[in-house]
Amino acid sequence: MPQRFSKVLIPQPRSKFIKVRCPDCGNEQVVFSHAAMAVRCLICGRALAEPTGGKAKIAGHTIKILD
Ligand SMILES: [Zn+2]
Repeated sequence: MPQRFSKVLIPQPRSKFIKVRCPDCGNEQVVFSHAAMAVRCLICGRALAEPTGGKAKIAGHTIKILD
C-alpha cells in the first residue's frame, strides 16, 4: 500500500462520524464530520453535508454522534 494512501485513513483530531436523517426521505446515513466532499443522500440525492474546509456543514437532522 503506498504511504500517501495510508495517511488518508488516519482520522483528524476531533473528527467524528455523525448519523444523520435525510429531511426529505427519512433515510438514515452516516457522514464524516470533516467530509472533504459533499455527501448526498443515497436514496434521494439531497445534500446532507457540505465541505467548508474544516468541519462539514451538516444539512440533515443529527441523530447520533459516533466515535
Ligand atoms: Zn433522502
